[in-house]
Amino acid sequence: MRKNESVCPHCGVILDPPPKQSRKCPDCREKIILRTDPNTKDKVLLTEASVIEFDEEKKHIMGRRKILRLLWFEKDSELSYEKAESKLAEKFGSKPSPSDVYWSIANRKAAGLARNPEGRGTEYRNAQAAGMIYHQMALHLHDEGKSKARVQQVQRQGLRWLLINSQIMFAEFESGGDVSISSDVCCDTCLTSHKKQVGDLDELCANWESLPVPQEGCEFDYCNCSLRAMPNHNKKSTYVLKPKKSSSSKVASAAAAQEAGCLTSLVTLATLLFGLACLLVVVL
Ligand SMILES: [Zn+2]
Ligand SMILES: [Zn+2]
Repeated sequence: MRKNESVCPHCGVILDPPPKQSRKCPDCREKIILRTDPNTKDKVLLTEASVIEFDEEKKHIMGRRKILRLLWFEKDSELSYEKAESKLAEKFGSKPSPSDVYWSIANRKAAGLARNPEGRGTEYRNAQAAGMIYHQMALHLHDEGKSKARVQQVQRQGLRWLLINSQIMFAEFESGGDVSISSDVCCDTCLTSHKKQVGDLDELCANWESLPVPQEGCEFDYCNCSLRAMPNHNKKSTYVLKPKKSSSSKVASAAAAQEAGCLTSLVTLATLLFGLACLLVVVL
């Protein structure tokens, strides 16, 4: 951002040795504020008037950097960031915050994936990717200090799509499923209030707005409980799969799907751990 790190920003006197912290200029006695350039890591000396703008810009750079890390689902995260940013700038009439840029990209992406849940627009099945993105969006709202109700609303969308992902996997071998709550890594309240088995997979997906997780009584703003779906071969799936191009190796695919079904709970757990990791990063 700025060079000449050892020059007083007020009077221009050369400071030798360069100051190690904010202090008064030995020559003009004006206050000099020391900052680190987020791009070059160089020390910069600023006046009290210019530090406001500097901090503002630094906050934006750091925020943008954080958002780029969240855009794992985009082929070119920088490009989609730039595109969304200029689109929003046009709409708002001013530069949008990195948070606004993230929201517009993630929201559109998740909604798009959800329209074709069985497809594969990323390395994951779309339903699963949508679930992961909604979870990440919920964590993002939590980071931004949004209300618990708002966070939980988006979190519930995430759980919904992860359950639909299980539905799709189980439907491939015509099996229904049962869902249970896992509260192992949440608070004491969740741990004592949860019922082990919560219900039928297809029914919960149909009534996802009243999913029992995230738990309202949770002691945390971000409930770390998760839902686990397990196939139940005594139930017939009500999920209607889109017809596949070839249906020749039905037996082989059924075996593969069964294996995949057992993986679902692991997938849910992985997403949960991913969420926890994000949370830890935020806390640290
Ligand atoms: Zn000076
Ligand atoms: Zn809890």
